Amino acid sequence: MNSADVIIVGGGIVGSSIAYHLTEAGCRNVLVIEREAHQGKGSTGKSMGGVRAQFTTSVNILMSLFSIPFFSRFEDVIGHPSGYKPQGYLFVATEERHLDYLRDNYHRQVGLGLKSVSLLQPDDIARIAPEIRNDDIIGGNFCATDGFVDPHSVMTGFMSKAAERGVELLRETEVTGIRADARGVSGVETNRGFIGSRVIVNAAGPWAGLLAKRAGVDLPIEPLRRMLVPTEPFDKVSQKSPMVVDMSTGFHYRPEGLGLLMAWNDPSETPGFKTNFDPAFIEKILSRGVQRLPVLKEAEVNPRRAWAGLYAMTPDHHSVLGPVPDLPGFFLANGFSGHGVMHSPATGRILADLILKGATDLIDAPSLGFDRFAKGRLIEETAVL
Ligand SMILES: Cc1cc2nc3c(=O)[nH]c(=O)nc-3n(C[C@H](O)[C@H](O)[C@H](O)COP(=O)(O)OP(=O)(O)OC[C@H]3O[C@@H](n4cnc5c(N)ncnc54)[C@H](O)[C@@H]3O)c2cc1C
Repeated sequence: MNSADVIIVGGGIVGSSIAYHLTEAGCRNVLVIEREAHQGKGSTGKSMGGVRAQFTTSVNILMSLFSIPFFSRFEDVIGHPSGYKPQGYLFVATEERHLDYLRDNYHRQVGLGLKSVSLLQPDDIARIAPEIRNDDIIGGNFCATDGFVDPHSVMTGFMSKAAERGVELLRETEVTGIRADARGVSGVETNRGFIGSRVIVNAAGPWAGLLAKRAGVDLPIEPLRRMLVPTEPFDKVSQKSPMVVDMSTGFHYRPEGLGLLMAWNDPSETPGFKTNFDPAFIEKILSRGVQRLPVLKEAEVNPRRAWAGLYAMTPDHHSVLGPVPDLPGFFLANGFSGHGVMHSPATGRILADLILKGATDLIDAPSLGFDRFAKGRLIEETAVL
C-alpha cells in the first residue's frame, strides 16, 4: 500500500475504534499502522478494564454517557463480545471533604443525564460491599452501569469489523517520520517505506509525544507507570462485587478471574517509560488494601503475575482530541490519563466526525483541543484513579 485516505498510527483500542468509526461514516480507505507483531502490546493490554461515568467534568461524563451504552450493545453492533459487566463503581468516603466532592459530582452527573448513580448511606454500602470495613465510612456514591470490559476483546472487535469493511492493518511497521508540505501532512515514513496520506491520526498511546515530535509538534504528554496486582483465587469477596474505591487511600479493587485485581496510584511514581513491575509495590498496596478490606490478610499474591503499564498523562488529565491547527491533516487522539479504554467508543466517533465533517455533536470538542495548552484553557479532572 503506498497511500490511504486516512493513516492511523497505533493499533491499540483507540486506533481501532477510530478505524471502525471511520468505516461507519463511509470512509473505507483507511490504514492502521502498528509497530508490534500483535495488537494490544501497549497500554490496552495492561489496563484494568474499568468503565465509569463517575467523573467530575462535563466533557468526561458525556464521553462516558456515549461509551458505556455502546459497550452494553457492543456484541449486537460489532459481532464480538466487549465483556461488559455492569457491576458498578462504589466510591467510599471517610472524610466530609470527600463526601462533599462526591455530592457535587453526583449533581453534575445527574444533571447531564446519568440515571444510575446514587448517593449512599453507610448501611447501603454495607449491602453492596459487605466485605469492606465500614465503621469509619460516612457515605459514598455508586453507579450501577459503571463496571468493567475486556479491553483486548473490545480492541479486537473494533478492528475486525473495520477490517471486514476494508481497513488495512499493517503490523511490524514503525512510523519513523511524518512528512509535511505547504498544504499540511503528506504521509508517513516507516521502516517499510513511505506511505502517502493527507490525514494522519496520532493514536500512539503513551508514545504519542514522541510521534508528535516527528511532526514537529510539541505535545505535553508524559508516560507514567501504573502497577496492578492480582490475587490468587480467593473466595472471601463476591465475584459480583463492584469496583470499590477507598477515597481515604486511593486503593481500589475489583473481581478478576477467581480472585481480585488491585490497584493503587503511588504518588512517588515519576514519569518515564518504565514498564517493569517493582516487587516493593506489593507491600505498599497490601498495607493500604487491608485497611479497607481486612479479608485480604488471607489472600495470596504471586509477584510474577503482577504487571505494570503506562498511563499517558496530560497536565489537566483530559485527553487531547482533534486537529493540530498549525499542521493541517494531523489529528490527535491522545493523553487519556488512565481513561482510554472506557472512552474509546466516544473517541472513535469524535475523531471520525472531526476528520470527515470538521465538527462533532457529541461533546464540545474545542474544549479538548490541542491549543488549550498554549491558550491556558486547562480543565482539570480530579477523579483520576
Ligand atoms: C495499569 C493500567 C491500568 C489501566 N486501567 C484503565 C481502566 O481501568 N480503564 C480505562 O479506561 N483505562 C485504563 N488504563 C488506560 C488505558 O489502558 C489507555 O488509556 C488505553 O489503552 C490507551 O489506548 P491507546 O490505543 O491510545 O494506546 P495503546 O494501547 O498504548 O496503543 C498505542 C499503540 O501505538 C503503537 N505505536 C506507538 N508508536 C508507534 C509508531 N511510531 N509506529 C507504529 N506504532 C506505534 C504501540 O505499539 C501501541 O500498540 C489503564 C492503563 C494502565 C497502564
